[in-house]
Amino acid sequence: MLRHCFHHPDRQAFAVCMTCRNAVCQSCSTQWDGINYCTACLAARRDASRGGRAIAGWFTLTAGTLAAVWLSVRAMVWAGALIAGLF
Ligand SMILES: [Zn+2]
Ligand SMILES: [Zn+2]
Repeated sequence: MLRHCFHHPDRQAFAVCMTCRNAVCQSCSTQWDGINYCTACLAARRDASRGGRAIAGWFTLTAGTLAAVWLSVRAMVWAGALIAGLF
């Protein structure tokens, strides 16, 4: 017997959540550390481990912002050099 997604009765089940044992379709299942979870259980797990990951996210955001600023400064310097060279 084919199982169907807990959230989408019209969709065939793709995986079984390791926490709540509900069958979930491809768009409802998420792999985390190589284990399948449904979106609800993954959200719960994310909340439990938010501390470390929030800092990692903040670092990523800061690094991304700095890279964007650095690139735009580089672009301005390059454009300035180009204009100075042309005129
Ligand atoms: Zn679940
Ligand atoms: Zn689904």
